[in-house]
Amino acid sequence: MTLPTSTAELRALDAAHHLHPFSDTKSLNAEGSSVIVKAEGVWLTDSDGNRILDGMSGLWCVNVGYGREEIVEAVAAQMRELPYYNTFFKTTHKPAIELAAKLAELTPKQFNRVFFTGSGSESNDTVIKLVRRYFQIKGKPEKKIIISRHNAYHGSTVAAGSLGGMAPMHGQSAVIPDIVHIAQPYFWGEARQGETPDEFGLRTARALEATIDALGEDRIAAFIAEPVQGAGGVIIPPATYWPEIARICRERDILFISDEVICGFGRTGSWFGCETFHTEPDILVMAKGITSGYMPLGGVMVADRVVEVLLEGGDFNHGYTYSGHPAACAAALANLDIMQRENLVGRVANDASPYLKALWSTLADHPLVGEAPMLGLLGALELTPDKIGRTKFPDPGKVGMLARDFSFKNGLVMRAVRDRLIIAPPLVICHGEMDQLVASVRKTLDDTHAELKRMGWVH
Ligand SMILES: *Cc1c(COP(=O)(O)O)cnc(C)c1O
Repeated sequence: MTLPTSTAELRALDAAHHLHPFSDTKSLNAEGSSVIVKAEGVWLTDSDGNRILDGMSGLWCVNVGYGREEIVEAVAAQMRELPYYNTFFKTTHKPAIELAAKLAELTPKQFNRVFFTGSGSESNDTVIKLVRRYFQIKGKPEKKIIISRHNAYHGSTVAAGSLGGMAPMHGQSAVIPDIVHIAQPYFWGEARQGETPDEFGLRTARALEATIDALGEDRIAAFIAEPVQGAGGVIIPPATYWPEIARICRERDILFISDEVICGFGRTGSWFGCETFHTEPDILVMAKGITSGYMPLGGVMVADRVVEVLLEGGDFNHGYTYSGHPAACAAALANLDIMQRENLVGRVANDASPYLKALWSTLADHPLVGEAPMLGLLGALELTPDKIGRTKFPDPGKVGMLARDFSFKNGLVMRAVRDRLIIAPPLVICHGEMDQLVASVRKTLDDTHAELKRMGWVH
């Protein structure tokens, strides 16, 4: 068969045979998907030749931007040499060896060992088995509850989806036992009237301590959290939150898991989000930016004090065919090389983030915008009919989707989470592109405002 070339025919074929993730496929098929055909730097091109600025780095992963020949070359060379071999049965290979050593160098000092996976979800499934195994070996098998947070995202397999706090996901699939969710540090959405961000941050953090006490420390294995919740809507915690969580984790006999699938590899202006917030995780979860999305790869870094115990436990009965896939490891190595050579982490901290944040925060003056926070290259805009009362629009998600669709038409990929718009552009985005991004967002806000007036939702 030869693939048709017109957008209409491509859409029809897609609709006939493709079930899309996290989509209402019936309404998507009626509307038609955008067909993305190529990309360069921060720009996507669709099948009609439109250029669109990728404000989401694909799915939070294309940190070094599109079109990096070095990564393509490294993968091709590795595939010629050794396209695949496993790491299960007393074998290993050079790309896995080199990447493991590289990750030990780049991650905080407590980390010297990695378990490779193929994705963030597989990494978190690995984490669940690993922390429970750790306490089994220590003779405390009843310590198996993992505390997570509402509106957290930790992946989409049955176990990772259970670990996450996405109610719409839990509603459609069985959840695994021994996972408990506590409040998230979402000031705009969940603070009490009159509460300051600092007070709210402390109160929310202390829910961890209260939950440990209520369930019994002898039953809790770990606490897992994203430094900044990504899929939940770029929830940047108040300044008091992480220091208080760090104190609680230090005082209690539980493991702290930092899910760095989005925050890792420069996104927050440090190599890892835990460095930005000065926490000390025992386990660090990676995927997405590790290869900038050029190949699928994930990994779990395990701190030395945890490894010491695991090494006493004999076989760890867990692994994936593609754990440490050679071509994926080669992509990661070339990607990390680019990040270091171009000092992308320093660039985010000292140049890109301050520049974009200054522009982004001006959007807070728009009548629809309740808050416009940004950390590193993670930004959000809370849309509201009433900034002072922090009220929500009726039919949550409708206004967000309206704005997101305007944004696509205005040449910018933004994502809507409920009525919160979010961005996470590639770390290489230049000043001129950031100017365009923010101008495009302002136009989208104006278009959305005009439409809401027409609908009678605002005055
Ligand atoms: C995307 C994501 C995952 C899941 O990664 P997949 O590669 O999609 O399985 C896990 N945790 C966080 C924080 C994520 O953003």
